[in-house]
Amino acid sequence: GLKDFAILSDGTVYKNPKFFRSLETKLAKEQRKLSRRKIQALKDGRKLSESKNYQKQRIKVANIHETIKNKRTDYLHKISTEIVKNHDIIGIEDLLVKNMMLNRKLAKSISEVSWAEFRTMLEYKAKWYGKEIIAVARNFPSSQLCSGCGYQNKAVKNLAVRKWECPECHAHHDRDTNASINLNQEALRILTSRTVGTTELA
Ligand SMILES: [Zn+2]
Repeated sequence: GLKDFAILSDGTVYKNPKFFRSLETKLAKEQRKLSRRKIQALKDGRKLSESKNYQKQRIKVANIHETIKNKRTDYLHKISTEIVKNHDIIGIEDLLVKNMMLNRKLAKSISEVSWAEFRTMLEYKAKWYGKEIIAVARNFPSSQLCSGCGYQNKAVKNLAVRKWECPECHAHHDRDTNASINLNQEALRILTSRTVGTTELA
């Protein structure tokens, strides 16, 4: 999401650092300035390659892009290493874009690219450290299931629902924390069924 980058079933919340947002605001501002300079150059009948103001601004915009990219990569490295080092089994949702697509208006380029990169980092670091990444099936309704009793609440499908009460067991849920607990349980179930399968073969 935008506010939180990742939520773990043990309650750990990795927030999206505030500097992403402030840098994005800055980027948007400088990009607007760049378009104004382009329009001005064209009006004056100058080629963009010969317009010093435009070129200066173009470099400024490119530098902000670079800063965002570097900071984002640093952050993703930090948390992926932390997660892989501290957990033996890591269950993740096997979807990168579903929520983002639904959330198109909110989705920022940063979070979209970050998820793909983050998953790649988790996967190769898990290999380094001998840990297991389990991707839970795309259609597993992680957000809709009550992590307490298993009741499926279809009303939670709507992304606007951030908190809900289970109509069956009356447990109170935070959308993302509940989903992360369900993912954890499902990952363990997948792992157990795999292990049973291997034992039977042996
Ligand atoms: Zn329940």
